[in-house]
Order: sequence, then structure tokens, then C-alpha cells
Amino acid sequence: MVDLALDREFDYRIPPALAEAVQLGSRVAVPFGKRTAQGYVVGLADSSTYPNLKEIGEVIGKKPLLGDKILELTRWMGKYYCCPVELAVKCALPEVVRKAKISWKERQFVTPGKISPEDLAKLKKRAPKQARALEILQKSEGMFVFKLLKLADTDDPTVKKLAEKGYVQISDQVDDRDPFGGEVFLPSTPLTLTDDQRKALELCNAAIDKPEKPVLIHGVTGSGKTEIYLQAIEYALHQGKDSIVLVPEISLTPQTVERFRARFQNQQITVLHSNLSAGERHDQWHKIRDGQSHIVIGARSAVFAPVQALGLIVIDEEHETSYKQEEAPRYNARDVAIMRAKIERAAVVLGSATPALESFYNARRGRYALASLPTRVDNQKMPIMRIIDMRQEVIRQKGWHVLSRKLVAAIQARLDKNEQVILFLNRRGYSTHLFCPKCGYVANCPNCSVSLTYHRKAMQLLCHLCGHVGTVPKNCPECHDPSFRFSGMGTEKVESSIQKTFPKARVQRMDSDMMTRKTLYREILGAFRVGKIDILVGTQMIAKGLHFPNVTLVGIIHADMALHLPDFRAGERTFQLLVQVAGRAGRGDVEGEVVVQTFTPHKEAIQFARQHDFIGFYESEIEFREELKYPPISRLICITTRSRSDTKALFFAEALTRELQKRIPRTQGIVAGPTPAPLAKVQNQYRFQVMLRTQHIMQVIESLSQTLASLKPPADVSIAVDVDPVSLL
Ligand code: ADP
Ligand code: ZN
Repeated sequence: MVDLALDREFDYRIPPALAEAVQLGSRVAVPFGKRTAQGYVVGLADSSTYPNLKEIGEVIGKKPLLGDKILELTRWMGKYYCCPVELAVKCALPEVVRKAKISWKERQFVTPGKISPEDLAKLKKRAPKQARALEILQKSEGMFVFKLLKLADTDDPTVKKLAEKGYVQISDQVDDRDPFGGEVFLPSTPLTLTDDQRKALELCNAAIDKPEKPVLIHGVTGSGKTEIYLQAIEYALHQGKDSIVLVPEISLTPQTVERFRARFQNQQITVLHSNLSAGERHDQWHKIRDGQSHIVIGARSAVFAPVQALGLIVIDEEHETSYKQEEAPRYNARDVAIMRAKIERAAVVLGSATPALESFYNARRGRYALASLPTRVDNQKMPIMRIIDMRQEVIRQKGWHVLSRKLVAAIQARLDKNEQVILFLNRRGYSTHLFCPKCGYVANCPNCSVSLTYHRKAMQLLCHLCGHVGTVPKNCPECHDPSFRFSGMGTEKVESSIQKTFPKARVQRMDSDMMTRKTLYREILGAFRVGKIDILVGTQMIAKGLHFPNVTLVGIIHADMALHLPDFRAGERTFQLLVQVAGRAGRGDVEGEVVVQTFTPHKEAIQFARQHDFIGFYESEIEFREELKYPPISRLICITTRSRSDTKALFFAEALTRELQKRIPRTQGIVAGPTPAPLAKVQNQYRFQVMLRTQHIMQVIESLSQTLASLKPPADVSIAVDVDPVSLL
């Protein structure tokens, strides 16, 4: 298999000189056409049906990079996600490992030798600098030369002379680029579990012994899920098995990692995140592959960590959309984890306070084992959630203000007590839906119960699931108000309006644009933690895992935004968001309060979130999905065609739709479309979507692959296939 997305394998002869070196999974250089390409050995055979085989040129690296299990996993990914297997391999192996340009970093290491007291006395007189360096070194078992130079405040020649005299030895040693190396943590010991925790742990341990099905832990924030993960990992370690813990990138904070390091003091815990330098990534990967690290924590791509004896994969916050990669291969790390565990006979533990409907559905149907932790460990109450009807506010305040009077009063009360406030704004869904600030009316599709998307160019309201076309009304169809508008409000506007209302408060904004500057992000959180900020205003990113005991009030400025995304999961997203945000309030001694501003206070997502009632929400939502045959009742595949020419993009989407309709019988699946994508034009590319809904996913994927193989898009049209999409934009 060569590093080109050809989805093909090629035969090469192994020259006798390389007979030993070439193994399954080896990285090799081979002649390919007129040039040389790199690739992997993915199979060994005694003979080939091809005449005139070329020979493998060279083997790169000492050990094979691609284990047979990971190879099997990437083959599954290629098939399931309809992408060339080479692409799957590419995301399974970090670039620095594939390219093999960087190696271990070797540095000069110096160890103390023998010296008689007389010689030392002489040295002190004649070369005091050398003597001082030697004395410092003698207090240790040895150290890197650069470190000794620093400690002894001296230069290279000094150490060289010591070596020449035989008083010290210099050698090359690997300097492990561990970003956390040298940090010390207070040790922690396993806690005595509550009954609910114990039951959950028993399920996990049973699965480690004998993997049968994934375990889903549904536990409210603070119910002690992490403690269960820790004890399950410990159990796996005792059986000589390795663990991978996946957390959303945004939760991969030092505090998270610290809990694991503190528990497993004498284990090398590897952390894989997107911020590692190439050198660090190289070292971590090889350390894992060589069996020196038995616990790996990381974001999405850590699902491919090359542990040798996989026993357990934990997926925390399993409902998180960031587990889905939004470029090809569009895989979901949760589902890849489940497949990897199946291949390697390992346990999978999914945890969340708001499981994805897909996961809970699987648990209800007995495909997953379910453990529930309905209460917080310390028996703290869940925070009180107050719902503010913004339609009333608009009437009372004669217009739309960012903050309702009740929220202003609540913030003032907290500021007076020197407590902290988080204000949360969900910026997604910005001005894509038609919305009346008077009565809360939102234009929905008559067939699909998703909100219609406003297409400015065509001045139309479209449903991109079924293709329904509506006109844009001048006045609100419900209350006939002409101030009807497209909603949209950014964090900046919110920040300035808050500063105006509370001129003395220290207000700080934090949104996703800042994620690109990690230091700033950490600085702000640090300042907030030590109380230098009174009110933190932000998007999604402050809704996750952070623990601030002094935050007693969380305000949600506009809870409806996610609700009106042109996506059938809008309600689910809103519910998850509200519950998660609520989890930020009152994690200290003081009881927390959540204030939710909404134009649609009656919506299920908001009402069930208020009661912290996941099961209630699940049951009402699943009814709606059942009726319309949406996931988890069926599976979705979204195909997007893209082109600089909108007619070409549309034309190919139409051809694709016809071909798919021919190949997929109605009894197997529904082919809908094409419709313009909600983001109809991105970077000058027009986009159209074809939607497949099916309860026979493997057959439909097969038909789709055949279609794509026979119907190639013209040169200036590209297509993207998204199996199990999590976002339909
Ligand atoms: P979750 O991951 O579900 O949010 P955590 O595992 O972080 O919950 O637990 C919340 C808090 O309760 C943590 O401070 C943790 O140390 C503590 N905790 C967890 N389990 C126990 C237990 N069995 N006994 C006492 N404290 C516990
Ligand atoms: Zn529709």
C-alpha cells in the first residue's frame, strides 16, 4: 500500500538482502512509476500473479510501524467511511512517525567516575572550575551535560577536560521529550466507592475479563465517573493490560491529566494532544509502541495509540461531537474505539451525563451494558434552574436586551457576595433561522420538524433534509409583528453590554477564536480561578469539565440558538448544553443557580433540562426520531458535492441521486435530495447535499461504494461522504 489515496495494493518482490528486515507493517520505499514512493507492507505472499515485479528499495525504521490489528482497523474504516484505506492509515499514524525524519533526541550525558581525595584536592587548586563541576556531579548519579553546565555555571571545555582525565564519563542518551516530565504530583489512593459506583466498576471489570459489549455509564456531573475509570484502569494494569482514555480536546487540561498521574505514580502516562511538538509526538508514540507506557490519555486520534496489550478504552463525554473528525476520513472515535476493542478483544467504557441518543438507545436495546449514577457523590444538590421567558421581557423592556431584569438582579446578588459568574452564549446557528423576538416564532419545515434555513441569495427558506421550499414572510406569520428578524448576537456584543450594566465588575470574554492561543486560554482560566475576574463570558468552550468552586451563578443568554440549528439533533444539543452548563454551577460549598433566558420556554429540551431529567428527554425525543425515522432509529449518510460552478455541483448531485435511487431499493433505504447545503457556499465552492437514511447500513454503504466507483465526478467537482454525520451543515 503506497502513500497515495488509490485504495489499492501493489505487489513487490523482496530482495534477498531485505529478507530479514521486511515484515508485515514495515515502512518501505518502493519504485512507483518514474519515482519513489513510500508505503507499508500489508501482506506477505510466496508468489504473485503479476509478471515483472519491481523490488522493494529500502526498509525505513527498525520495527514495523503498522501493527496487524491497526491495519485491520483501518481497513474497516476505509470500507465503513467510504474512504481510501491509505487515508485511514494516515490518520492512524502521526505524521512524524510516518515520515521518520525525526528520531529520538540524543544528548550528551555525564556520569561521575572515581577520583582520589588527593587528586580532588589538587584539582581544586589547579582547576577550581572543574572541581566545582565535579563536586556537583558527584552528588547525583549523572545528568545531561547541558544541565550540569547550568548548575555549575561553566562551559563545555570544562566538562571535556574532566572526561579526558577520566574523572567523568560522557555518553549519548535519549532525552525523553515528555511535556510533563519531571513534574511531581501528590499521590492519590483509590476512594471507597458508593454502591452505584461499585456496580458500575463491576461491569467494567467484567468487561475487561471477558469483553462482550460496551459499558455505558450514565452519571450526572460529579457522580464519580472519573473515579470509576481510575479503578478500572488499575484493574486492567493488574491483568497486565493497557488502557486508553479518550477525552474531548477541550477537556484535556492539566487538571484532568493530574488526576491520572496522581493515581498511577509509578506508571509512565502518555498524553497525546494536538499541541505536542513533532519531537514530543515521536517520543510518546514510540514509548507506547515499545511497551513503556501502559496508560494513554488523549483526544480523538489517541484511539489509534499503538499500545501492545489493549485491555480497556474509556471514552469520557462520549456524546461529544468533537470525537467526529470533520475531514476525510470522517470517523467517529467512539465508534472506531468500539471496533478496535472488538478486534483486539478489549473492554469499552463510555461515560456521560447526557449520553448520545444513539448510545442510550443501544443500552436500552441491550447492545450496551448500562450503569447509572443518578446522584452526586457528595450528595450535593443539582443547581436550581430558572427559566426566563424572553418574550415577556421584550414586552416589558420594550425591546430586546441582552440581559433580562432577573438575570441582572441575580448577577448583582452574586457580585455583592464576592462570588463568580459565568455567562454563556451559544454562538452557533448565528442568523440561519427566521425568528420573531415578539412571540418566539421560528420558521420550521412542515415535513421534518427542523427549522428552515434562510438562503439569502435565493430569498428562500429551505429544508435540507427533504427539500421543502418556503417563501420568506414579511411579517411574523404568528403575531404579525413586522420587527421579525434573523437573530444573531456575538460574545463581543454581550461582553460590552455586561460591562455597561456592571461598570465595576471585572468582565472577561473567552471564545473559540482564543483556542488558537493556548497560553491566553490558560491565563484567562488561571485568572478566573484565583478570583481576578468576576464575570466570564464565553461560548461552548467554558461549558466543559472545568471546576470552579466559587462559581455560583451560570447564566445562559440565549438558549434557543442551538434549538434552531437546521439539524434534527438541535433539541439534543440544547439539552446537552444546558445540563453541562448547569454542571458548572455550585461545585463548591454554596448551592448553585442557573438562569436560562429563552424565547421558547415550553420546548422539551429546556423543560427536561430544568428537571435534570435525561430519561424524560430521551423518551420524548426518541418518539420524534421514531416517527421520522431519524437516527438512532436509522443511520444517515450525507453526501456533499462541491464546485466553483453551482450548476456543475448541482448537476453531479442530481446524477448521483438518480444512480443511488436506482441501486438502493426503497425497502433498503431512502435517498433524498439534492438540496443546497445549509452552508451553500464555502470558500467560493457551491455545495449540494444528498441524504441517505437506512436501517441496512452495510448494504447501503456497499451500493454507495459501487456507485462512487462507477460514477466519477468531473474534474472541477469534488464530493465528500459523511457516514453517521454529527453535523449537517
Ligand atoms: P465525574 O467524573 O462524574 O464528574 P468525579 O469522578 O470527578 O465525577 O467525582 C467528583 C468528585 O467526587 C471528585 O472530587 C472526586 O474525587 C469525588 N469522589 C468520587 N468518588 C468518590 C467516592 N467514592 N468517595 C468520595 N469522593 C469521591
Ligand atoms: Zn423537510
